[in-house]
Amino acid sequence: MTEISIIPVIPVDASNKKKATVKRKPKPRYDCLKCPGYCCSYPLIEITERDMQRIAKHYKLPLYAAKKKFFRYDKKEKCWALRHHKDTHFGSICRFFHTEERRCTVYAARPGVCRSYPEKSTCGYYEFLRFEREHQGDPSFVATTTP
Ligand code: SF4
Ligand code: SF4
Repeated sequence: MTEISIIPVIPVDASNKKKATVKRKPKPRYDCLKCPGYCCSYPLIEITERDMQRIAKHYKLPLYAAKKKFFRYDKKEKCWALRHHKDTHFGSICRFFHTEERRCTVYAARPGVCRSYPEKSTCGYYEFLRFEREHQGDPSFVATTTP
């Protein structure tokens, strides 16, 4: 989740004589490019079959091989999720996250949930991060939610 896109809703029928209204997402008040990727460290990032197929195709792998390598089935929540790997700041993070460069390595094929998050113009973690960075006088400070 290192980039944000604004997707206008385009009317289906362009010949419609009525004045077309284009709805826009509210301008985000967070900047994923300045964030260490907190949301990518959520323990359960649920994905769909379509997400898995897209990522498998992206890596030119058969689905069964991609599932084994990149995804895990969560028995408790009864859903597929992204595997994690170790992270210095948050303990663990999505296995597609580059822990040095702090960015998504599968951005073009990322799951739907990563595209839509945080689904509003604000991000709670980013507000917290911005406050802590100002407070500490350190624009690169990485705020964590555990003591
Ligand atoms: S935690 Fe918020 S600001 Fe950070 S990458 Fe995720 S959506 Fe972007
Ligand atoms: S796929 Fe990319 S955007 Fe989604 S959680 Fe993993 S690193 Fe973050």
